[in-house]
Amino acid sequence: MTTITLDPRARPTGIAPEVLLAIHIAHAAFARRGKQMYIRSITDGEHQPNSLHYAGRAVDIAINHIEPPMRKDIHEDIRAACGPRYDVILRDQWIHIEYDRAK
Ligand SMILES: [Zn+2]
Repeated sequence: MTTITLDPRARPTGIAPEVLLAIHIAHAAFARRGKQMYIRSITDGEHQPNSLHYAGRAVDIAINHIEPPMRKDIHEDIRAACGPRYDVILRDQWIHIEYDRAK
């Protein structure tokens, strides 16, 4: 069984339900491959000034424990499952997921 772990520094206060749903969707992509999922940032951390993190509408999920080829597969799975209302971006060390109400 795979679990979701919240990094001690990750602050969940103010998380939007749309992001909670995205976390649930993302976990399936990790679990399908037998991988644990670690949430590294929600409303905490240092992001760009207008980042949706501060509005509770973004989450960063760690991928540094995933082999690089599998990172792209997980990213693509999450992107496809979340659909066009979400932006799912593959970074070096994490996957950033945000919900843009304007979409
Ligand atoms: Zn982010």
